[in-house]
Amino acid sequence: MVKRNPNMAKLTAGYLFPEINRRKREYLQKNPGVKIISLGIGNTTEPLTPHVVEGLHHEVDRLSTREGYSGYGDEQGISDFRAQLAAKLYGGIVKGDEVFISDGAKCDIARLQTMFGSEVSIAVQDPSYPVYVDGSVIAGVTGSYDQSRSQFDKIVYMKCCLENDFFPDLDNQPRTDLIYFCSPNNPTGAVASREQLKKLVDFARKNRSIIIFDAAYSEYISDKSLPKTIFEIDGAREVAIEVSSFSKPSGFTGVRLGWTVVPDQLKFEDGTPVRNDWNRIMTTLFNGASNIAQYGGMAALEDEGLAEMKSLVSYYMENAAIIKKALDARGLVTCGGINAPYVWAHFPGRKSWDVFSEILEKCQIVTTPGSGFGPAGEGFVRFSAFGHREDFVEAIKRLEAL
Ligand code: PLP
Repeated sequence: MVKRNPNMAKLTAGYLFPEINRRKREYLQKNPGVKIISLGIGNTTEPLTPHVVEGLHHEVDRLSTREGYSGYGDEQGISDFRAQLAAKLYGGIVKGDEVFISDGAKCDIARLQTMFGSEVSIAVQDPSYPVYVDGSVIAGVTGSYDQSRSQFDKIVYMKCCLENDFFPDLDNQPRTDLIYFCSPNNPTGAVASREQLKKLVDFARKNRSIIIFDAAYSEYISDKSLPKTIFEIDGAREVAIEVSSFSKPSGFTGVRLGWTVVPDQLKFEDGTPVRNDWNRIMTTLFNGASNIAQYGGMAALEDEGLAEMKSLVSYYMENAAIIKKALDARGLVTCGGINAPYVWAHFPGRKSWDVFSEILEKCQIVTTPGSGFGPAGEGFVRFSAFGHREDFVEAIKRLEAL
């Protein structure tokens, strides 16, 4: 018999979304024929846009000829695409060869966890996207289990709540090797200001930590005063890695395309550039993003593609405004939904899973219980703006039953 990886047994409760689906199925078994509206999972719903589709088709056609066919490409991505991405999305503040194209931000986060190994300590925003903690636990980042806090001692939860404007109290945080930070945030929809990110970068510099900045929702920022990338902040190039994705701005959730920026200046304690190890990880564990997806990505970065991206983002942001308005009208305190496609609604004194069940039973709407994102998510539920407009129009009528 083969021994089970002990880290797998250290994962707490089942992954959040399978559990939501289980409860949804259970509800449907008891109430057959009911139409449930899902505002729970952050999955995109609207079709790929025409210019992007043209880019994808073009590459499929090229690959179907003897002259045009190519097999494996560079593991780091097509070099013109890397340069185009650095220029178009970063305005040249990062270089093309610091951009590594991949099959998505989640996969890059897992590979970063492999690269950093089990010896590091980590900090996460609480609440946060579950992959930061679960992926780290799988990679062996645990230490001993502290019963009194129900937490592993190598994982620090940085509380983000209404009282601190969803930005951690860094003056009272212990040092960790890595700091996962996501802005615009999933699940809270909070977006860190320039001053807040400056504090984060200064904190990492002081502690010689590395920030893993998740910018998967950066294209949802419309307020020009808010930073779209950590590299807009002075000093970030020495302390930060950024992961990002075409999933949410261009609907590539199923196509799969993302990237990670590792700046030249970022070094390990012994002086080794982090970029060298990341290159080693990518060339060893990854065989390059799909060439078809990359041509779709290149089309998305051309002027027509960028205009389509803008209108796709606006569509989802109108959904966010609809749901936020309805929740605010019910007297609920909400965060997000302005520069982020998530609305984080507070139900003081209630358990998130109880609120989830109540909304499912009274309104036949699936949300995501905040507690699934970390202890500070208790008392909140997340509404996602990803869905068809007609479902949002129907959802706000149903919410009157709440
Ligand atoms: N990062 C955050 C914060 C997310 O919410 C998601 C998906 O929901 C991802 C990363 C995953 O991105 P990708 O589809 O590129 O793997």
